[in-house]
Amino acid sequence: MTSLPSSLRTRFLVALSALLLTATLALILIGRLVIYPALLAEEREQAANELDKIERTILHDQRALLAQVTDWATWDDTYAFMQGEHAGYAASNFSQAMFEDMDYQLMLFFTPEGGIHWNAGIDPESGRYASCGHLTGACEWASPLADSVKPLLDPQPKTGVTHIFAEPTPMLAALYPILRTDESGPSMGWLIHVRLLDDRWLEALEARTGRPVDVMPIADGDTRQGLQLDRSDGDRMTISRPLSLQGERAPLRLQSQIPRDSFRTSLTTLRYGLLWTAGLLLVVIALVLVLLERMVLRPLRRFAHFTQQLQHDDESHPFPVELLMRRDEIGTLAREFQALREHQRQQQALLVEISQRDPLTGLANRRLFDERLQRAYDQARIHGKPVAAMMIDVDYFKPYNDHYGHQQGDDCLNRLAECMSQCFSDPDVIVARTGGEEFSILLPGLTAADASHHAETLRTAVESLALPHAAAPVRDIVTISIGLADSMTGNDSPHELMRQADMALYHAKQAGRNRVSKEIMTP
Ligand code: GH3
Ligand code: MG
Ligand code: MG
Repeated sequence: MTSLPSSLRTRFLVALSALLLTATLALILIGRLVIYPALLAEEREQAANELDKIERTILHDQRALLAQVTDWATWDDTYAFMQGEHAGYAASNFSQAMFEDMDYQLMLFFTPEGGIHWNAGIDPESGRYASCGHLTGACEWASPLADSVKPLLDPQPKTGVTHIFAEPTPMLAALYPILRTDESGPSMGWLIHVRLLDDRWLEALEARTGRPVDVMPIADGDTRQGLQLDRSDGDRMTISRPLSLQGERAPLRLQSQIPRDSFRTSLTTLRYGLLWTAGLLLVVIALVLVLLERMVLRPLRRFAHFTQQLQHDDESHPFPVELLMRRDEIGTLAREFQALREHQRQQQALLVEISQRDPLTGLANRRLFDERLQRAYDQARIHGKPVAAMMIDVDYFKPYNDHYGHQQGDDCLNRLAECMSQCFSDPDVIVARTGGEEFSILLPGLTAADASHHAETLRTAVESLALPHAAAPVRDIVTISIGLADSMTGNDSPHELMRQADMALYHAKQAGRNRVSKEIMTP
């Protein structure tokens, strides 16, 4: 089978491969430009949610601390204590166990003027409990804390305030003016509770939020705003952002860590998805190619092969039946082609017929006669057999035409042709009209002597037709003259054979017409 370099199969293969490549590239690009960024954005949102959750927990702590300080500050005993009336207040209300239970480290009582009235708490360094009316000695550790929170008193707050401090150590502070239990004034100063955001607090926060949490002062040069993600560790992501509570930005950075399992799982799923899609695409394209090969290309090749065989004149090759039986477009094409071919065959046969037949009499024409003559002559030569030829001319046909008219002349020629065909029914014998009113007959296998009997029979048969010829000078019927020759008389070509027959005919005419004459060549 001839395989063309630009065959449909190759072109489909190239086109579908290009399609596969494009689709795979598109998949990779979609993964890179759409899905991967979406996964990162989702991870970022998860990080922000985590920090929100932690911030809400801290806010909750702040509120709890404010509730505690409010409770203490609006108590008649505290009010009296600030007025110097409740001498046993500190001793009876503050203890190490109380601070440990309440989970804050320091209480600071400020006078209306902003001076320290009392403070009590547990030194985070030593773990020792102290309760004093000054910030010296055992209570000195609280002095820097008191200095840090003191700005809360300016301007003098009329209600509860909470704040987060970075210095000297990260801490939460809640303030409430000291009032009577019914919250009537005037204010006898302020009570501040301080909760250190130390390791213990962080552990508790971690237990509540389920995430490791760190709170650290923002360094001077740290200008990073918003959410920060550190993905350098593949398994966990460090997330941080400046801590903002109650709308204000605290000078602290909140940091946590979240696992990247979900992101990694999504990424793996994405990769599998892309891989499977590409694989599936490959299988689909391979299937398309196979189907194309079976349904279109193979039958088309068969068709093309068949037409190529036709071009090489192998007309005997039958049209592939499976193509004719198809119900699709290829079947239609095959049937149309077959019909066209049949039509062409008929036209061709008609053309051959036209080119070989005499239209008036239906006998062979000169072309066919010459062709058969050459063939018969060659065969005769090869097999050493004779071939005889007759040349026949209608006698006085010009006067016939002149007398009866051309149409009747044609009818006469037809009658004569019919008579000749009847006399020579042997399929090997060729009867032809080789001129206007001239006929030639080829008799393979016969010598002129053998053929003279047939010629005589023909001449008599024409005579017996008794076609009236009123214009004939001798007889009043149509007659013919016949010249006979054969291939045994020394001629060496069909042309020579016919020339001899013509000579014989001439002799027949000369001898008075309505006769048979043989041309005998002297060797
Ligand atoms: P001869 O006996 O010597 O042959 O005399 P002739 O009159 O037949 O002479 P010739 O053979 O020369 O005449 C041929 C005539 O045949 C001339 C023409 O009128 C006539 N003829 C030739 N072809 C046709 C034809 O196709 N139809 C008809 N009706 N007449 C034809
Ligand atoms: Mg003639
Ligand atoms: Mg004649």
